[in-house]
Amino acid sequence: MGCDATGLAAALRAAATVVAGHRAELIELDRAIGDADHGENLNRGFEAIVAALDAGVPETPAAVAKLAATTLISKVGGAAGPLYGTAFLRASAKLGASDEVDVPVLVEALKAALEGVQARGKAVVGDATMVDALAPAAEAASTAGGDLAAVLTAAADAADRGAESTVDLVPRKGRASYLGERAVGHMDPGARSTALLLRAFAEAAR
Ligand code: ADP
Ligand code: MG
Ligand code: MG
Repeated sequence: MGCDATGLAAALRAAATVVAGHRAELIELDRAIGDADHGENLNRGFEAIVAALDAGVPETPAAVAKLAATTLISKVGGAAGPLYGTAFLRASAKLGASDEVDVPVLVEALKAALEGVQARGKAVVGDATMVDALAPAAEAASTAGGDLAAVLTAAADAADRGAESTVDLVPRKGRASYLGERAVGHMDPGARSTALLLRAFAEAAR
């Protein structure tokens, strides 16, 4: 069974609840190696997504993902807003005109999201950014098998491990890179939020 526009809207609402619940944690992660706004930035963006969905859920999953993208790009400042916006925009382009997202389309959408983040931010795996969570997630999704929930759970598990891996890395992109070696020992906030979002989508798909 796939995920239709209503299902994707519900998943975004669930993600908004998770972001709100982890707002303080993301702020603290960003305080250690950045400017302490990641939780606030992301929460503002997802509150705006919920408000947009309240005003009306678009007809197709692609249109829902595009609404999320344009909302994040317009409402979230800083590095993460445009990066997440690009991720949703590229994912949206893979969802096509169909009424349902199935596993092959989800795998393509995750790959496209990663490519979008990398095209925009130029980060590679090991730079201690959200790419360290999203890249292994996209890879795990492509080999997982099973239904949407199983594939998203594999992606979220890989993203958790990827986020954990950033603790030992020297950041090479974004604000945290200004700290260099002094940032070692801290998890990247964007990698953590990517893992949280994927977990929220996985739970929503169950
Ligand atoms: P800002 O750093 O502008 O305050 P946020 O705090 O909202 O923005 O987001 C910071 C997160 O953005 C970082 O933890 C990192 O995961 C991500 N990030 C920053 N620059 C890049 C980049 N060039 N490529 C990928 N991700 C990045
Ligand atoms: Mg910040
Ligand atoms: Mg900032």
